[in-house]
Amino acid sequence: MIYLDNSATTRPFDGVVDRMAGAMRESWFNASAAYAPALTVEKEIRECRRCLAKAAGAQENGVIFTSCGTEGDNLAILGTAETLHAPMNFVLSAIEHPAVAETVKRVLRMGHEVRVLPVDSAGRVRPDAARDLIDEHTALVSCMQVSNETGAIQPLSELSEIIRSAAPQARFHVDGVQGFLRVPLNMGKLGVDFYAVSGHKIHGPKGIGALLVNPGKRLVPQMTGGGQEGGMRSGTYDAPAILALGEAVREMTARAPAERLRALKLRLWHHLKGIDGITANGPEPEDAELAAPHILSLSFEGVRGEVMRNALEGEGILVSTGSACSSHKQKVSAALLSMGLDREKADGTIRVSLGCLNTEEEMDRAAEAMAAQYGVLKRFQRR
Ligand code: PLP
Repeated sequence: MIYLDNSATTRPFDGVVDRMAGAMRESWFNASAAYAPALTVEKEIRECRRCLAKAAGAQENGVIFTSCGTEGDNLAILGTAETLHAPMNFVLSAIEHPAVAETVKRVLRMGHEVRVLPVDSAGRVRPDAARDLIDEHTALVSCMQVSNETGAIQPLSELSEIIRSAAPQARFHVDGVQGFLRVPLNMGKLGVDFYAVSGHKIHGPKGIGALLVNPGKRLVPQMTGGGQEGGMRSGTYDAPAILALGEAVREMTARAPAERLRALKLRLWHHLKGIDGITANGPEPEDAELAAPHILSLSFEGVRGEVMRNALEGEGILVSTGSACSSHKQKVSAALLSMGLDREKADGTIRVSLGCLNTEEEMDRAAEAMAAQYGVLKRFQRR
């Protein structure tokens, strides 16, 4: 099997599995208890906090462990909305993941205004539109770091500048689920207030993530109870998952995988780019400033993405037609449409996403299979 759907989830590193299993045996004490073994677990958790904070330029006291990226996004958005005493506006990009886009709909129902930032043909937010939409009544600006569908790296420093000058009261939320540890981001330097990350996208376990917050910005907790995480996220610590997440962050940091991922992606792309009818969506794949190292959105003219995906699966190659959570709904991607792709092209798209465990040989075999399958399938072009 060649697994090329790492933006849906990644296979955990062996060290992560070992850490999790070891922690389930040894570090299962309730980290909030007062006896020595529990204090040891608490200390181990603190080390993970330090490691996460360092990896994102966050403050150690600004790490809130969550169950996933979705929960972090919810906490940032709803937790901000609940601090407000009067209607304000929330600004988000047109290509946000449902973890953000659906959550903002709840903010709308609370009586706030929602403003949507359009993207250009490469799938990047247009800063000129942001200048028009962000103002003194903006409570929160939400923009993903990397598009889960095209790999477009978003212009976060431009957005940060605009927020600083036009809306210093606004909080800046970045969904870092697809970018964390593959595209550099320093929260402190960039002026990001909330950065949501997810364990299972970085070869860590599922069921664990974090919201890294600027401790100076108030949030209303969405999970109340025993007061863990400084009251920001109640619930007994899942120490094995947290420690395994720490291990994933350590290994990702040590591997610094961006360059290798980019070389793999370009190896695949260079096999395909000359083939008539195959195009890449989003920024130029070669453009290291604009295109994330690990995601390639490909359109196959005349062939539905779903058909291509199934054909590749027949060859043992796993890709997706869009983001994993929406692909089973068989909808044409709203993010691709918002970039100006026509329905047919958007419908003829697959997403290839790479992880640290992919190899050069896999790129060669996948490209060969894509070219061969396309050669066969395009003869049955849809009308
Ligand atoms: N944000 C983005 C950009 C994603 O791609 C995903 C998952 O694919 C999520 C949020 C949700 O993350 P999680 O699965 O950890 O809830």
